[in-house]
Amino acid sequence: MSIKKTLRNIDIRKKKVLVRVDFNVPLNKNLEITDDKRIVEAIPTIKYLLENKAAVILMSHLGRPKGKVVPKMSLEPVSIRLGELLGKFVKFIGGDCIDSKSKKIASNLKYGEVLLLENLRFHPEEEGVFFSNDSNEFAMENFAKELASMGNVFIQDAFGTIHRRHASTIYIVKHIEDSAIGLLVEKELKFFNDMLENPVRPFLAILGGAKVSDKINIIENLLNKVDSIIIGGAMAYTFLKSQGVSTGFSLVEDEKLDLAGELIRRAKEKKIDFLLPIDHTVIDKFDYSNRQIYEDTKIQITVDEAIPEKFMGVDLGPMSIEKFSEIIKFSKTIIWNGPVGVFEIDKFSKGTLKIAKNIATATDEGAISIIGGGDSVSAISRSGIDKRITHISTGGGASLKLLEGKELPGISVIPEINEIKKKC
Ligand code: AMP
Repeated sequence: MSIKKTLRNIDIRKKKVLVRVDFNVPLNKNLEITDDKRIVEAIPTIKYLLENKAAVILMSHLGRPKGKVVPKMSLEPVSIRLGELLGKFVKFIGGDCIDSKSKKIASNLKYGEVLLLENLRFHPEEEGVFFSNDSNEFAMENFAKELASMGNVFIQDAFGTIHRRHASTIYIVKHIEDSAIGLLVEKELKFFNDMLENPVRPFLAILGGAKVSDKINIIENLLNKVDSIIIGGAMAYTFLKSQGVSTGFSLVEDEKLDLAGELIRRAKEKKIDFLLPIDHTVIDKFDYSNRQIYEDTKIQITVDEAIPEKFMGVDLGPMSIEKFSEIIKFSKTIIWNGPVGVFEIDKFSKGTLKIAKNIATATDEGAISIIGGGDSVSAISRSGIDKRITHISTGGGASLKLLEGKELPGISVIPEINEIKKKC
């Protein structure tokens, strides 16, 4: 297995170190940070660099400004929170991350000081998607060159964006003396690699969410790794329908029925427990796009796995919750991605919250638990049990790619230990 350089393999003393972090934190209407986990998780790398006398220049995006300056997506509130967490003043000048002012401050930055550049995505060249294909590469390359000119070394520590082919995650590496991954990315990779390559058994995967199509590659890859798979959420109905079970007007991907049936067949062949719900919470009317029910919406629990014609499944039923709880209890490695019901509505969040609690209890009793980002993370936070989980990933999309067994673009470009940097 190739071993990528980490910041410990690089001489950073008295260097200007450009660090790609993921400070894409949620802000409320008053521009206050409502969850600072991503800033907190970046602290070990920043502290390591400061303790080793580097000058630290941080780069991040925030939100989706689509290549334009959107003042409410400024990183200023992040610079203040970061300063509080570091117990140290963080320079922030806003404006344009590559203009002469930013470059001057970066060039005068002393070792042991921190500068946070303004939102990279105020520049369309960061994502590149806003240009025609021909000019894309050129624009991204030039933007990356400008960023790289501010430092000597690049550290990739933005796990949340590491699956994206952006200027500050891919192109920058070609234009700087040396690059490595940071401590957060190293930690994320270690948890996912250890789990996928060397799990303590029994190994259970719980997959939920809206679409089978988003998670087919994950299921295929996990069929070679796990002992059991629990499928919940809307995904479960496509699998049930593939087995001839009635699913009412639940969300079903009809074009994936054959594939769903094939995956169940393969799981059986490999003697993997492939568990689908055995009962459901169902409703007869739903404003799904706004995740709202009507005053006269009927809510019922089915007697078995079949859903009546005029109803739609929105959560697990009590028998499924009990059955899945037992499996979770006896598992020693648990990976979870995706809610098992329309958890945004309290009445349909029972299954998801119960799964979260059971995973926490199994972890208390010695299991290793990994939550793969996105909605499952918000369910865990809602249940107030985040501290009891072994690892909560900071990257939804990136963790999905790792579960698919794919390499992440932002990791591929980082040199391996002992690899000599080629001249650009
Ligand atoms: P994903 O982004 O694929 O993880 O999907 C998350 C979404 O799946 C959430 O917004 C849930 O509301 C939705 N979801 C979960 N269970 C169901 C269900 N039974 N029917 C419809 N949507 C669901």
